[in-house]
Amino acid sequence: MSDRELRGVGVSPGVAFAPALAVRWTFPEIPERTVGPAELEAEVARLHQAVQAVSDQLDVLRIRTLQRAGPEAAGIFDAQIMLAQDTDFLTSVETLIRKNLLSAESAYEFRALELRNAWQNARQSFLRDRLADLNAIQLRMLLHLLGRTADDAWLGEIREPVILIAHELSPGLTVQLDREHVAGLISEEGTRTSHAAILAHSLGIPAVMGVPGALECIAEGTIVLLDGQTGRILLDPTPNELETARLQAVRRHRLELQLESIAGEPAVTPDGAEITLQGNVDLPEEVDVAVRHGAQGVGLLRTEFLITGRTTLPSEDEQTEYYRRVAAAFTGHPVVVRTYDLGGDKFPSAFVAPHEPNPFLGWRSIRVCLDQPEIFRPQLRAILRAAADRDIWLMLPMIISLDELAEAKGLIAEEAAGLHAAGVRAARDVPVGVMIETPAAVMLADDLAAAAAFVSVGTNDLTQYTLAVDRSNARLASRFAPLHPAVVRQLRHVREAAARAGISASVCGEMASDPVAIVLLIGLGYDRLSTAPPSIPLVKWVVRNLPLAAAREAATHAVQATTTEQVQAGLRETLGRYVDLRLVDPSGALPRPLVTASLPRKD
Ligand code: PEP
Ligand code: MG
Repeated sequence: MSDRELRGVGVSPGVAFAPALAVRWTFPEIPERTVGPAELEAEVARLHQAVQAVSDQLDVLRIRTLQRAGPEAAGIFDAQIMLAQDTDFLTSVETLIRKNLLSAESAYEFRALELRNAWQNARQSFLRDRLADLNAIQLRMLLHLLGRTADDAWLGEIREPVILIAHELSPGLTVQLDREHVAGLISEEGTRTSHAAILAHSLGIPAVMGVPGALECIAEGTIVLLDGQTGRILLDPTPNELETARLQAVRRHRLELQLESIAGEPAVTPDGAEITLQGNVDLPEEVDVAVRHGAQGVGLLRTEFLITGRTTLPSEDEQTEYYRRVAAAFTGHPVVVRTYDLGGDKFPSAFVAPHEPNPFLGWRSIRVCLDQPEIFRPQLRAILRAAADRDIWLMLPMIISLDELAEAKGLIAEEAAGLHAAGVRAARDVPVGVMIETPAAVMLADDLAAAAAFVSVGTNDLTQYTLAVDRSNARLASRFAPLHPAVVRQLRHVREAAARAGISASVCGEMASDPVAIVLLIGLGYDRLSTAPPSIPLVKWVVRNLPLAAAREAATHAVQATTTEQVQAGLRETLGRYVDLRLVDPSGALPRPLVTASLPRKD
């Protein structure tokens, strides 16, 4: 990364290019002031008048947002009005006025600071996400109580397009911006789900948030090029860099239109082969995204989130309810629940694990579950109960031996029998599948396939363990090569073993969303791919353009290739005959899937 380049999170797509304009605001200084007992009631009344005035200001913004961005975006200001009128908070301010004889602004400032600190340190990320809303309301209140109005007049003075740089963008400011004057937005704080980000997206203003030090690094007036999709920011770009950025934006838009146009179409190759596209779901909120993108079920329901960041283990009932709920969203399609894959990159705080020098080669995943049946058994019962009336499959991660599979199946059978004997509604059995994630499992693929109902290749781990390359080590990123001949040949072997056993084989690693790799996977005969939900439209687009016959031929060559470069070149060449490669170029249209820890960060 050059010193002209900054990185943040792209929250509103589009490329923008203009001089920088810094927006700085701070909370006003509040003069120390007390009031006499006789003035107390008037001071409390002043507080409530301010709440009313600020609510009116927010209502004006709500109406404006309704007109500019629709009812959903306008709801942001309904929520802000509720926050401004929060009775518990205002009562606490009132009490402070009465008890300590403080002026309304002093009391409000005191309580506001307490609340802000609490939200800042909250474990729940949604509270931290809403800090910008809280700050904006508190600022309006304090300014009003001091007899000043929010000074947004400078907005009207912008004559030429600018890129606004701020520490934090409030929704109230964002909704007053228009593309004619504000070409793009950069802020030090903020995430994809911040309200200002949502509004910028609705208004079509490209934006990058979460850029630490932006105000300091970008001098006022510097020409800034920002890409609201990739989060890349370039200062003083050359004419060539500008042209490249423009072309990328045009191509990306073209690809988006193509993806939209096939949204309701099936994933069938031009020569009629049906491919099942499923979603990898890590968090409950991804279920909706998967449904919206037409996922035919869930090929990998990661369950670690049920434990991560918690101090107690989830109950059997809670788990049953969650698996049922996910399965209900995909009626007619299976949901593959993967049992806990703890350890390595994913150890929950509820679970005290010894420090390990080599966590990826350590006590993890199925090893933990088999050693600690008191964690595993409730999960197995929950899966069996949820499977009573839903199409739920059970998948075991990190299996390296037939013994592990047999032991896990033994526990599942015991739990099924126990539930039945106790008269609990539960499935008598569920399809039990194995993840193929280690060379050991590949070598045993025929034996495992004979004993399993299905197999799914976890190419993230299979690549890591085959190449001895830590999947989360940024320094090794270029060596992490799922298209290495050693991985490619294992993929073929697993597919053939599954075919010999007459069971389904899928791929659920990130590789399944790489357009070049899809040529290989389909060509090898994988007809079930499971990817992060946002990637489903792109995978479908590749499938609909790529004849199976061509993919088969490319795969035959790929398994004979001796270097990663040869594998890649051959697959790329085939793909290039059916799609415009510039649309899927890693440096262009879409960010490449990044293989890192699969769990969200702890709160
Ligand atoms: C994999 O290893 O490819 C996989 C899908 O599992 P996870 O990324 O959760 O380890
Ligand atoms: Mg894995």
